[in-house]
Amino acid sequence: MAKITFYGAARQVTGSCYLIETEHHRLLLECGMRQGEDEDEIEPGAPLLPFDPQTIDAVILSHAHLDHTGLAPLLVRRGYRGPLYMTATTCQLLPIMHKDSAFLLMKDVEWSNKRRQRAGKPPLEPLYTLNDVERELTLCEGLHYGEKREILPGVELCFRDAGHILGSGIVELWFDGRKLVFSGDLGNSHSPLLEDPSLIESADILLMESTYGDRNHRSNEETLREFREALDKAVEDGGNVLIPAFAVGRTQDLLYHLGQMYQEGRLKQNQVFLDSPMGTSVSEVYEKNTRLFNDDNPRFRKMMTHTWEQWLSVLRFTRRTEESMALNRIDSGAIIIAGSGMCTGGRIRHHLKHNLWKRKTHVLIVGYQAFGTLGRKLVDGAKRVRILGEEIAVKATIHTLGGFSAHAGQDQLMAWAKAFHKPRPRLFLVHGEPGSMQVLQKRLSHELHWDAAMPEEGETHEI
Ligand code: ZN
Repeated sequence: MAKITFYGAARQVTGSCYLIETEHHRLLLECGMRQGEDEDEIEPGAPLLPFDPQTIDAVILSHAHLDHTGLAPLLVRRGYRGPLYMTATTCQLLPIMHKDSAFLLMKDVEWSNKRRQRAGKPPLEPLYTLNDVERELTLCEGLHYGEKREILPGVELCFRDAGHILGSGIVELWFDGRKLVFSGDLGNSHSPLLEDPSLIESADILLMESTYGDRNHRSNEETLREFREALDKAVEDGGNVLIPAFAVGRTQDLLYHLGQMYQEGRLKQNQVFLDSPMGTSVSEVYEKNTRLFNDDNPRFRKMMTHTWEQWLSVLRFTRRTEESMALNRIDSGAIIIAGSGMCTGGRIRHHLKHNLWKRKTHVLIVGYQAFGTLGRKLVDGAKRVRILGEEIAVKATIHTLGGFSAHAGQDQLMAWAKAFHKPRPRLFLVHGEPGSMQVLQKRLSHELHWDAAMPEEGETHEI
C-alpha cells in the first residue's frame, strides 16, 4: 500500500511539499519554500525538510514558483542527487528564479552576520548558495506537455497545461496500478496569455489546490475597468502607481494589459518600469515561448515574436540597482512594477518606503496576499507599517484588484473537478487557507456528493 504525507501547503497556501511512498520508491512532489512573516529573518536550517533527502528517488515540480520549488536547492545541498522532473519551460524559468533566490539568501545572511558579529554571536550559513543551485540545475529534466515518461521502474509521469504561469503543469502520476493527479496551481481562465487549465477525466487520487475555494473573481471586464480607473486617478492626483507583482506570471499579464491600453490610446502614464531583474529575465522567456500562448489576440502574438517593447513602447526595464534607485526621483506619472508579489522582499519595499506616505500615491494589489505579509497588511488597511526597519505611515490609496489572480476562482475549481469521471477520485484539498477550503468542501459535498479531506501538516494517508 502506498502512502502520502502532507509536509507543506496543508491548510495554508505556501510551502507545497508532499511525499509519496510507493511499494518500492519515495517520490517528492513539490519542494516549496514558505513565505514567512518577517522579511529579515532567515530560518537557520530548521526542520524545513522533515525527511532524509538522500532517501528520495525522484522529485516532481509542477511549476517554477518558489512556493512550489524554492527548497529544491536545499534538498541538493543536503545530499539529494536524483532527477528533478518538470516541464521543459519550467526548466528555462528555474535557473532564473533559483539563482535569484540563492543570491537573496546569501545577501541576507551576509547582512545578519555583520550584526551577529557585533553581538559576539557565531555566523549563520545561508539556506543554500549559488553553488547548490548550479548543482541542482544539472539534475533538472524537462518534459513537454502530454509526454508520458517512465521515471522509475513502474512509475510514469505526464504534465498537462495548468494555465497558471508559463510552463505550469498539472501532474499525472501512475504507480502501483493507481493514478494520482495533482492540480498544481490551476490558472484563471481569464488569463490574457495562457490557455485554460487542461481537463483531466480519470484518477484514483486527486490533490487539488483551493486558494480561492471560497470566492469567485470579478469578471475580466470589471477588473480591467477598475484597473483603468485606478491608473487614471493616479494621473489626476499627480502621483505614481506601484504594483507589487510576482515576477513570473502576474508581471507578464500586467504588461499585456498595459500594452493593450497603450495600443488603444488609453494609457495616460508616459512611463512604465519593470523594476525587477528577475521579472525582466522571465519576460524574455515568455518572448521565446509565444507558441504556448492562447489564440485570443493574434496581433499580440505577432508583435511578441519581436519584444515586449514592441507591444508597449513606454516600457523600460531597470535591471541595475542605480536605475532602480533613480526611480525614487520620479514624483509622478510613472507605473512601477516590482517584486516581490506579497511585498516580503525585493525592490518594491524601497518604492513603498519612498511613496506610501504620500497621499497622491496609488498602490495596486493584483495578487493573493498570504496572511502575515506586508501586502496583506496593506490590503487589510494598516495605517502604519514597518518597512526595512522603518515605520512608514500609509497615506496612499490601496486598490485591491482580485480579478487579476493567476489562480482559478471557486466556480472554475468546481468546473475543473467536475470533469473527473465517476466514481470520482479520492480527494484531498491542499494549498488553501482553512476558511476557503471549508467553503469549497461544502460545495463539493452538496453539489457533487463528493467528500474532500483537508489534511493537516505532517498528516499521512494510505492511498
Ligand atoms: Zn503558483
